[in-house]
Amino acid sequence: MRCPKAKKLISPYMDGELGPMERGHLESHIRECSQCGDLFKELSKVHEMFAGAQRFKAPYGFAGRVMSRVTARKTRNIFPIAGFARAAAVCFIIAAGITSGETTMKKLQPANKENMVSSLSLSSFDPAPPDSIGGAYLAMTEGDRED
Ligand SMILES: [Zn+2]
Repeated sequence: MRCPKAKKLISPYMDGELGPMERGHLESHIRECSQCGDLFKELSKVHEMFAGAQRFKAPYGFAGRVMSRVTARKTRNIFPIAGFARAAAVCFIIAAGITSGETTMKKLQPANKENMVSSLSLSSFDPAPPDSIGGAYLAMTEGDRED
């Protein structure tokens, strides 16, 4: 088994989704390959954290209330013209948003335009806080990133 396949199979392995043969191949690869072995250990920690997390029970009748709402929505959609009108309204709202966005961008001075465009880029988002589960996971997988 090669590393890319082994890395893909680690999570399904932890979830007990692999057959006996695939599981055996992965286990022997993890023993022999230090890189995949390290990744396996790191992901095991995350898996244990989630497995040990506190679980909350849904309030009594929750599933029944959700399903009755789903059924109510389905029966409301029996008139196709209402669906068409809704789709047309969505298209209109999107077109209006694009038009107003274009107008706004045209009115902006070049310096402001640059600030606005940079504020829309993904790099302006804050990474997950380091003390959160997501932050811990990112910190552990940081070594695997190639950029
Ligand atoms: Zn490997």
